[in-house]
Amino acid sequence: MSLAGKVAVVTGGSRGIGRAVCLRLAEMGARVVVNYVSRSEAAEETVELVKAAGGTALVAKFDVADSAGVQEGFKKILADCGRLDILVSNAGITRDGLLATMKEDDWDQVINTNLKGSFNCIKAACRPMMKNRWGRIIAITSVIAFAGNAGQVNYAAAKAGLVGLIRSAARELASRGITVNGVAPGYIDTDMTSELPDTVRDAILKGIPLGVLGEARDVAGAVGYLAGDDARYVTGQVLHVNGGMFMG
Ligand code: NDP
Repeated sequence: MSLAGKVAVVTGGSRGIGRAVCLRLAEMGARVVVNYVSRSEAAEETVELVKAAGGTALVAKFDVADSAGVQEGFKKILADCGRLDILVSNAGITRDGLLATMKEDDWDQVINTNLKGSFNCIKAACRPMMKNRWGRIIAITSVIAFAGNAGQVNYAAAKAGLVGLIRSAARELASRGITVNGVAPGYIDTDMTSELPDTVRDAILKGIPLGVLGEARDVAGAVGYLAGDDARYVTGQVLHVNGGMFMG
């Protein structure tokens, strides 16, 4: 129970990778705040799953892309929980399309949620961590940030931008006892990837040396490592969890 007494905020904790991260951090002893934007039943279900496993969790609704909403959200979390030790910036969306025809709104939404959303949350979370002189910030980037992908210039740009943010924030915050790292998943079986046509899925599988899609718990394990004491000397790094499809 290496995270006993700690409070962890997981953005996009209602489903997929975020839900698995909530369960992992709760298992390690943290009190978990499950952020979501629209699906309150899914967020409540995550809370129930955490409780059923013997942990403690509560929900916090805010849109990570809305800076005023994020500030309010973190203020309330601090008031409710009294502290904030760990942030997992996981909320993300895709709005795929080819560059030549991509709608400006699809570019803006993906950048605003995946990149600005992480900036908003990291900025809000680092202040109480700086005061405590301890913190763990983990952002979920993607293999696409490193390998690129046709049809995802917006998503690739947001996730690559996040890598720069992680490294710069790690340099800024290290002297305050805060580590900042990323996890870059490959293809993970969640709602985000469930709508891939079979032909695309088969082509993806051919490019994965381990031969299967990852599961949310594979990413959660990496996040748990970075949040725990074993990673106390690790900062500014991105841990790839991708079945070998990209070896950076
Ligand atoms: P899902 O689509 O399954 O879940 C997305 C989560 O993000 C939901 O909890 C959703 O909340 C939340 N969310 C979306 N927009 C916002 C917002 N504006 N504010 C707050 N919460 C929001 O995604 P995954 O679990 O698959 O992905 C999680 C992260 O991992 C993302 O950053 C994604 O880019 C990244 N990733 C995923 C990969 C994959 O193969 N699945 C591969 C590489 C990276 P709600 O339930 O309310 O809609």
